[in-house]
Amino acid sequence: MASSLTLAFLNAKGAFEDPLAAAGWWGGVRKGAVEALPLAGAPKPRFDAALAAELRTLQTAALETVGEVTRGGPAPEASVAVISGALSRGSMQLHGNPPAIAYSVDEGAAAVVFPIALAIASLIAADLSRLRRCANEPCAAYFWDTTKNGSRRWCGLPCMERARAPRRRLRR
Ligand SMILES: [Zn+2]
Repeated sequence: MASSLTLAFLNAKGAFEDPLAAAGWWGGVRKGAVEALPLAGAPKPRFDAALAAELRTLQTAALETVGEVTRGGPAPEASVAVISGALSRGSMQLHGNPPAIAYSVDEGAAAVVFPIALAIASLIAADLSRLRRCANEPCAAYFWDTTKNGSRRWCGLPCMERARAPRRRLRR
């Protein structure tokens, strides 16, 4: 699902500081990303300083864009241009018979950058009203609120419990 890759990318604090960390992060999400986005004959990515830097730039652009749009502001043009540029690293074709939509990239780094950019673009272009930030401030992770009335406040149970514990202590 496009939104889960985007959330993993937005929440990957400091994951692209160096190539090794970036490779580790990609190793954890790669399977889901490839299932969501079939890349025809994608070359194997080589994690070097250039790819780590590209991911940092893309992450900053994604955070700025999502942050502004969810606050109801206009999307920052420079950040949108970065995401758009990453989108141009891949292309879409029809493959097979019966023909199905598939994507392709011509070099390894693009096999990482393009699926992420496409997931971000799909999320931004979709309805962002269900995108929330965890109410536990030190966490502030992005999550997708799937509750019927849109009332979820925390990214997960640990954050919810941490937020409620001090209040419970006060009541005693
Ligand atoms: Zn949280």
